Amino acid sequence: MPRAKLRLIPLGGLSEIGKNMMVIEYRDDIIVIDCGLMFPEEEMLGVDLVIPDISYLIERRDKIRGIVITHGHEDHIGALAYLLPELDVPVYSTLLTNGLISVKLKERKALAGAKLNIVPPRGKFSLGKFDIEFFPVCHSIPDAVGLIITTPLGIIVHSGDFKVDFTPVNGQPTDLSRLAEVGSQGVLLLLSDSTYAELPGYTPSERVVGEALDDIIARAPGRVIITTFASLVSRVQQVIDAAVRYNRRVFVVGRSMTNIVNMARELGYLHVPDGTLGRLDQAKDLPHDQIVFITTGSQGEPTSALVRIANRDHRQLHIVPGDTVAISATPIPGNEALVARTVDNLLRQGANVVFGNGTPVHVHGHGSQEELKLLISIVKPRFFIPIHGEYRHLSLHARIAQSTGVPKEHIFIIEDGDVLEIGTDTARVVGGVSASHVYVDGLSVGDIGNVVLRDRKMLSRDGIVVVIITLNRKTGKLVGRPDIVSRGFVDTSEGNQVLESSRDLIAKVLDRGPKQPAQSDFVNTKVHDTLNRFYFEQTKRRPMILPFVVKV
Ligand SMILES: [Zn+2]
Ligand SMILES: [Zn+2]
Repeated sequence: MPRAKLRLIPLGGLSEIGKNMMVIEYRDDIIVIDCGLMFPEEEMLGVDLVIPDISYLIERRDKIRGIVITHGHEDHIGALAYLLPELDVPVYSTLLTNGLISVKLKERKALAGAKLNIVPPRGKFSLGKFDIEFFPVCHSIPDAVGLIITTPLGIIVHSGDFKVDFTPVNGQPTDLSRLAEVGSQGVLLLLSDSTYAELPGYTPSERVVGEALDDIIARAPGRVIITTFASLVSRVQQVIDAAVRYNRRVFVVGRSMTNIVNMARELGYLHVPDGTLGRLDQAKDLPHDQIVFITTGSQGEPTSALVRIANRDHRQLHIVPGDTVAISATPIPGNEALVARTVDNLLRQGANVVFGNGTPVHVHGHGSQEELKLLISIVKPRFFIPIHGEYRHLSLHARIAQSTGVPKEHIFIIEDGDVLEIGTDTARVVGGVSASHVYVDGLSVGDIGNVVLRDRKMLSRDGIVVVIITLNRKTGKLVGRPDIVSRGFVDTSEGNQVLESSRDLIAKVLDRGPKQPAQSDFVNTKVHDTLNRFYFEQTKRRPMILPFVVKV
């Protein structure tokens, strides 16, 4: 009888950045590595998030022994809140990762009943025929790990997201000596992070960022607003350290940032001297050069605090001339335009904005080419699969592997949905499974299937409202009243009254001050959300709302 083979099925993260999920299967045992989400691309209108298609897993639910999470970034944990209730299997992760998962599950009311297991950064456990060992990796979040998975056919090493930084901020350097040991025993397969396979050389150390932030906070004449990912706990620590050094108090803005800061403090991953953190309403009593705000929004997400601030729509925080805003993150590919418009609006209001160019307020959490080579040479795998990246990253990483001596026919560039079968000395793609995008739009998950279908349904049921908003290009001020045209929504005289009132409502919402920046996508979101709520209250219907911003 031929020996059973291992099956490897990526359900996300291969040929895209985000929603990482890898399935490894041997006979009746399945393990899943990571369960992430992706932010929508611009053409995915009306979609909030994208999560992996798990129909393959749902059909084999009784075989799944567990989900193993490498670290707490959204592209690795973000889909758990949506998918865990459907799968109902145990989750394994390190302490901080588990804390971040718990925060996310709680936000979506999915925490009760979740089987969450905490494993130390060098811990071992078994799931069916798989023996799993964590090893610490350095990444832009503490407690990140890679996996050494012993299978009946040999050892698989999964790098997680990693870089080789010997002076990490908090967290540990990547455990190269453990990997060298495993490498000398013989490794069947290496799966390695390709995110920055395009960058030559080595990725700079996180220390560089600490120095840059320190410099900004030391020199800023007024308030400092630093924006980053909420999950970049080590970045938050660097901000707090610098603030303490220059006698500034720190104010955390936004719910998700506050939740994560509290959790990380409780678990001991953030060290904050007493009296450093303040409540937002206390900030107005302090001199400006004693204030640092930390907030999210480094990706220009339309609902984030920074974008609200940039559009003067934040309840508690307005830019005043003399403020310094530092964007401590690189835009995820695709978000560049959103971030650029946010920067424009901040500058327009008199802020000094620091973002990447020149000042290293951010370094990548992923290894560059020399680090990728180092890992492959140490692990010396028989087979190699590049993971975490667009096709061009995977393809470049494959070439890097080849340059270190892995034979071309042992390197597989596979994409989401491919099924790769691996024996002890052969491997090939044997088929495919469904791995489409599943869209989440705040109200519903997955059953949207495709957006067009949803739009059509909405149109046939509740009609359409087109809102034309004319703004002055320079001042951002509304010119005249908004125009509203509707089809199939309301046709009674009360209905017309609702449309009339909504014109006034929009005029009011968009008129909040003398210098009103006009960022179209922000105005669109604002108009859409306002009308959606208003029409539903008034009519119990949800027409499709299409705002058009015209600048004159
Ligand atoms: Zn990551
Ligand atoms: Zn990642």
